[in-house]
Amino acid sequence: MKKILVVDDAAFMRLMLKGILSKNGYEIVGEAENGQEAVEKYRSLSPDLVTMDITMPIMEGVEAVRQIKKLDPNAKIIMCSAMGQQTMVVESLQAGAKDFIVKPFQEERVLESIRKTLGA
Ligand SMILES: [Mg+2]
Repeated sequence: MKKILVVDDAAFMRLMLKGILSKNGYEIVGEAENGQEAVEKYRSLSPDLVTMDITMPIMEGVEAVRQIKKLDPNAKIIMCSAMGQQTMVVESLQAGAKDFIVKPFQEERVLESIRKTLGA
């Protein structure tokens, strides 16, 4: 079972993603609510994939991507973006994120992105 770390400062967003992922056979290995916690949990949990929010307190998603890619150049990270965050999506992709999904999430699009990223 593939292990996923879900990162978002909004608890209901994490809940929504966890629902989609767990009912489709993925294991939620951990959650983080800011970028710094995401980096720490990536280090301790070694997930197969990370879903990463962009706007969070303490450390934003783009910086968390940079730090995780420094720890593990093969890290697989999907950005969770909202309308109007194109600049940060581009920065995240340049920092090594593999793909992005847009809120509000559509289940099929989430699963397609995860399958594609895990297979890459
Ligand atoms: Mg947020």
